[in-house]
Amino acid sequence: MTLPVVSPRRETTTALADQLSALENTLQVQLDTLPFASEDGVAVAHRANVENNLQEVRLALRLHAEGRYGTCIRCADPIAGVRLEVRPWATRCVRCADRFGW
Ligand SMILES: [Zn+2]
Repeated sequence: MTLPVVSPRRETTTALADQLSALENTLQVQLDTLPFASEDGVAVAHRANVENNLQEVRLALRLHAEGRYGTCIRCADPIAGVRLEVRPWATRCVRCADRFGW
């Protein structure tokens, strides 16, 4: 799966929200084209991966709308900028992601 490149910059949070929205739309289109049931384990894993990514992007959008983007949902510490550059939809800091998943 190829996701569009998203470059978060804290000073352009509206642009970030637009990019996350575009990513949400892209993932939804991907999801809409994938079969619900398949005997192909790779297809099943791919659909689950797209669904998880879509959930994360939607959560990041909600946090952004609430003014909480960039803050870990688990421990409330700031999420490192480098993590957000690589994974702009991240909702947990590296420590919590390692500990609890995502
Ligand atoms: Zn955390």
